[in-house]
Amino acid sequence: MQSVTLNNGVEMPILGFGVYQIDDENVCEESVCNALMEGYRLIDTAAVYSNEKAVGRAIKQSGVPREEIFVTTKLWIQDAGYKSARKAFETSLNKLQLDYLDLYLIHMPFGDIHGSWRAMEELYHEGKIRAIGVSNFLNDRLMDLIVHHEIVPTVNQVETHVFTQQVENAQFMKDHHVQIESWGPFAEGKNNIFKNEVLASIAEKHHKSVAQVALRWLIQRGIVAIPKSVHKERIIENFNIFNFELSRADMERIAKLDSKENLILSLHDPENVERLSNMKFHD
Ligand code: NAP
Repeated sequence: MQSVTLNNGVEMPILGFGVYQIDDENVCEESVCNALMEGYRLIDTAAVYSNEKAVGRAIKQSGVPREEIFVTTKLWIQDAGYKSARKAFETSLNKLQLDYLDLYLIHMPFGDIHGSWRAMEELYHEGKIRAIGVSNFLNDRLMDLIVHHEIVPTVNQVETHVFTQQVENAQFMKDHHVQIESWGPFAEGKNNIFKNEVLASIAEKHHKSVAQVALRWLIQRGIVAIPKSVHKERIIENFNIFNFELSRADMERIAKLDSKENLILSLHDPENVERLSNMKFHD
């Protein structure tokens, strides 16, 4: 598996499996098992997805050695702050049936993120997490964290797909040694992505699918991708992207699809800040 090296030397697979909106426990467990059987070695969940237990069961059941799997989970806004973050971390670890985590992310840049980060730095130093990072941080929030703390986030997981390409933000992250990770690599199916004419014509040329082109375009840019699917044939399809290469002309055609705006989640919109901050999950 191709990987990226994080700023603390930890290796992270460049392709993984995401489990957002897989609410049914059995479906989640089966999908993660299928992904691990197919060869995925990065699983991305979050406390707020309420499926960490199912992910934990799938990891146990798969028989794949723990050290071969890179497990990410995320701290939700309701647990922001030093004490709550330490407690939420233990809860997530227990649900996942793990004794360490590979990557722990602050899910959203809201609430007491500085308290959260202090807790995460401690957990990192205690050896309970191999890498710590953030998600949905705009460059100003990222810089705020960088200048006020010891540890520079290893990863920033942000909405990134052919319609929201994050070119300037990716460069900013690179300049500050933060690995960009894409969420929503298929734009969650929006904008009729799977029927997009540019992607379809490139896919046809390479005897690949639109989904495979969308993922290949991300990894050729050095961006970690974590596509989600509950269908075994798609889980297999989405993993099969390491035996072809997009040409420079292909990449340039795809670059023209960029709207330079978030399609799924605008982080500038105060209504979103309010809505997300009021969103609670229960154990
Ligand atoms: P996504 O991966 O962009 O899209 C998933 C959608 O594409 C599902 O409807 C899926 O349907 C469909 N699909 C998957 N493979 C396909 C294929 N080969 N052909 C046709 N359709 C296909 O959306 P996402 O789940 O939102 O993003 C991926 C992961 O990123 C999440 O699971 C989560 O781990 C992470 N994420 C993080 C944040 C954050 O705030 N940090 C936000 C959103 C997502 P089926 O399942 O029916 O196959």
